[in-house]
This record gives sequence, C-alpha cells and structure tokens, in this order.
Amino acid sequence: MDKSRFLKASGITIASSMLSQFLDAQATSAPRTNWSGNLTYSAPSLLEPHTASEVQSTVRNHHHLRALGSRHSFNGIADSIDNQIAPAALKSIDIDSSGRSVMVGSGVRYGDLASVIDAKGFALHNLASLPHISVAGAIATATHGSGIDNGNLATAVSGFEFVAANGELVYLSRTDHPDVFAGAAVHLGALGILTRVALDLQPTYQVAQTVYLDLPFAQLEHHLIDIFSSGYSVSLFTDWQQSRATQVWIKRRSDHSDTVLGAEFYGARRASVKMHPILGHPADACTEQLGIPGPWYERLPHFRMNFTPSSGSELQTEYFVPLDRGYEAIRAVETLRERITPLLFVTELRTIAADDLWMSMAHQRLSLAIHFTWKPEWPAVRQILPEIESKLAPFGPRPHWAKLFTIPGPQLDRQYPRLGDFKALAAKYDPTGKFRNEYLQTNLYST
Ligand SMILES: Cc1cc2nc3c(=O)[nH]c(=O)nc-3n(C[C@H](O)[C@H](O)[C@H](O)COP(=O)(O)OP(=O)(O)OC[C@H]3O[C@@H](n4cnc5c(N)ncnc54)[C@H](O)[C@@H]3O)c2cc1C
Repeated sequence: MDKSRFLKASGITIASSMLSQFLDAQATSAPRTNWSGNLTYSAPSLLEPHTASEVQSTVRNHHHLRALGSRHSFNGIADSIDNQIAPAALKSIDIDSSGRSVMVGSGVRYGDLASVIDAKGFALHNLASLPHISVAGAIATATHGSGIDNGNLATAVSGFEFVAANGELVYLSRTDHPDVFAGAAVHLGALGILTRVALDLQPTYQVAQTVYLDLPFAQLEHHLIDIFSSGYSVSLFTDWQQSRATQVWIKRRSDHSDTVLGAEFYGARRASVKMHPILGHPADACTEQLGIPGPWYERLPHFRMNFTPSSGSELQTEYFVPLDRGYEAIRAVETLRERITPLLFVTELRTIAADDLWMSMAHQRLSLAIHFTWKPEWPAVRQILPEIESKLAPFGPRPHWAKLFTIPGPQLDRQYPRLGDFKALAAKYDPTGKFRNEYLQTNLYST
C-alpha cells in the first residue's frame, strides 16, 4: 500500500517520518538479472526502502529477505526464494575529518564516494578493479584489490549498522566489539540488512600506473615476492600460453620513495601505449597508464567509472592460495592451459595481505589470488572448474565468495577455522534464518 492510500484507508494523519516506521518499502516484481546477465534472480519481488526505518519495517514484515547491492556477484549469493531488498537509495556520505573516517549509507558505491572524500583531502587504502560496486556488497564478500601490504576492502571497515531479523538496528564497531567485529565485517549478507558503514580514511595520495608486456613465468620462481612488491598494487595478467604473463600492471604511490621503473622489468618490456588487460579490447575503458600520476581513485581501479568494466558479458572465478606457494600453484594451473585458454578472456594474479576477518579469503594468510575472466560459456566453464580446483587442492584454495566455483561445502569448512563461530554469530542476529538463502545453505550449512 502506498502512503496516500494508507492515510485515506486509516483516516488518520501521521507525520511522514513516523509513517515510514510502519510502511514497507515499495515492491516491484519485474525480472532482474545480475550485472553480467548470467543469472536471473529467482526472488519474485524487489523491495526498495528509502530510509533505515523503512528497512526496519520491511524486515519486520517479511519471513525471507536477501539484500541486493549493485548486482556484481556472479553466483546466487544475493538471491532469495522470496524477496530481495535493495537499499540503493541510502546514499548519505558523512566525513569525520578529525577522526579520519567516513560513514556511508549502504547504497553508496565506491565510485560515488571516492571523489567526495578526495575533495576533502582523503583517500581509501585500496579499491577493487572497478568502482561500480556498493560498499555494503563489496565488504560482504571480502572484495579486494591488489598489494602485498593491502588487506581486502573489508579491512577498512571500522563499524557498521544493520537491521537484524527482529527489525532492531544494531551497530558493531571494531573498537567496542573487537571479538565479534572480526566475525561480522565479511558478513556474506547473513547477519542482516546493512544501512550504514564506517570506513577508515587516510590522507589523499597520487598513483602512477605503468604496464609491462611479456614477463616470463620462469621469473616468478625466485622473484614472485619482489615482483608483487614492486608497487603499491601490482597485477599480472595471462592467457596461460607461452609460459608468460602477458601484462604486468604496477601502480605506485607518488608519496612512497620508490626507485624509478626502467624500460625493462624482469624480462618484460615497458608498454608504450595504453593497454586493456584483455588483448584486443580498446583501452579507453581503462584508467590512465604510461606512468602519468593522478588521484588514487583514478588509478587503483583498472576501469573507469563511466565505462563498462572488464568485458561485459563474462563469468568470473577466483581462488586464494598462500603466497609462499604461489609459484607452485601457478605452475599447477598452467598444466591445464590447453583446456583453459579457449574459454578464457584473461587471468589476473593479485596479492592480498593476511587479515583476521573470520570469513575473509585472506584469513590469516598472505594470499595470491588466481582469477579467471571467462567467456560466457557456463556449461564448458562448469566442466573445467573441478579440474582447476583439483590442481589447487594441495594449496588449500579458498574461492571468492562472489564468483563461480564448485568446491563442495564440507571442503570449504576446512578452509575457515572460524566458520562455526560465524554461524553462531549469524544465529544470534538471525535465529530463524530470515536472511538464509540457497547459496548459504549449500556452501555454509551443508554439514
Ligand atoms: C566486472 C567485475 C569486476 C570485479 N572486480 C572485482 C575485484 O577487483 N575484486 C574482487 O574481489 N571482486 C570483484 N568483483 C566481484 C564483486 O566485487 C563482488 O561481487 C561484490 O560482492 C559485488 O558487490 P555488489 O554491491 O554488487 O553486491 P551484490 O552482488 O548485489 O551482493 C553481494 C552480497 O552482498 C550482500 N549485500 C549487498 N548489499 C547488502 C546490504 N545492504 N546489507 C547486507 N548485505 C548486503 C548480498 O546479500 C550478497 O550476499 C567484480 C565483479 C565484476 C562484475
């Protein structure tokens, strides 16, 4: 029921701020897909609240709900048998300059936030490959960028507010709730519907991006750490052919006293034109390269805000392994190159600092992430994933929560020593399973 019909039917006048405490968010039922289009959500209805109190009443009034962010996940993690709730209208950005912190509404995307904090002299520690994703949805899945000393994006969260299953607002913070906060930050959408997130800020900085071409894999055997430490954020791309990284993207902070990058880098040569990670794709969609310095938020992502990131119609998979076994893991995957390459747009290799967040793929492990951007050919990709997972099994792979994988739930259990504690935390805020969905059931609750 909309607000005016409610007023007529009830015959009473209630201030609209009070009214929003009783009314549900507006619901629509048009079919919805994720960003890539590989998944049509099965949830019949989408609820779109405009205030935190509308989120509260919506949560109170429904038995099953799942939050939907900017829809960039490739699997059913944001799906529901019943309702999705998208707080995209919660767009507040409040900077606390003295506390070096920003509080954002859960509808805010990194691309909305970056220029606002930069204008006030602040920056985030890192960004993912694209700025288009929501903060609440990115931290849910431990979304990450690269950098040997850079934790995933959830490591910058100092607190967040959410609506628990009973409709109450809860605020958890790193300082006031240090024990459960480490469990809650990578929340997988399982605790409730986030309404606000607080992020750590640091003084703004400039970054210059330089690309090198054709780095032999043989260089990784003894120089893996040196290569990934050569910049603030480093990515290697490969098509798995000819035993080489096709491109190395080195993002260096101007305020870090680095040595000058030369024309040659571990056998690779410096690119003299701007590159797209997928060979043959136009580079206009990519952030500035060629060593030209610019603001952190226009260099740390690979892709620009107003352009389609990556390929567009694609699938993605990513596995985290310990960095100290990274070279072995790369060589193990390489043995499948003749099967992988025909299905692949590109592979990216990145590093992520170890953290203490219970459900983070980098939990207590400095990690190498081996990522695959696949062509949209799911039946064939579905066949090769178990083979890659079997090659990576000796390294204890942890799949990215938001991407496509086939590792069974009981095997995932073994990779997350705090999973039992996370389930207990979820049960505390959601005792009836209001926020559970098939994805969580399969991957977290199958044993
Ligand atoms: C082109 C492309 C590039 C990508 N690059 C990277 C990358 O560089 N690094 C990386 O790690 N990942 C990357 N990803 C994956 C992406 O970061 C994750 O899928 C991320 O979780 C997407 O966030 P979202 O806002 O789209 O959330 P959705 O996909 O909509 O949802 C993800 C999860 O967040 C939960 N959620 C969303 N909002 C809320 C809320 N308000 N309250 C509670 N739960 C909520 C959902 O329930 C769901 O569980 C990429 C994806 C694409 C499509």
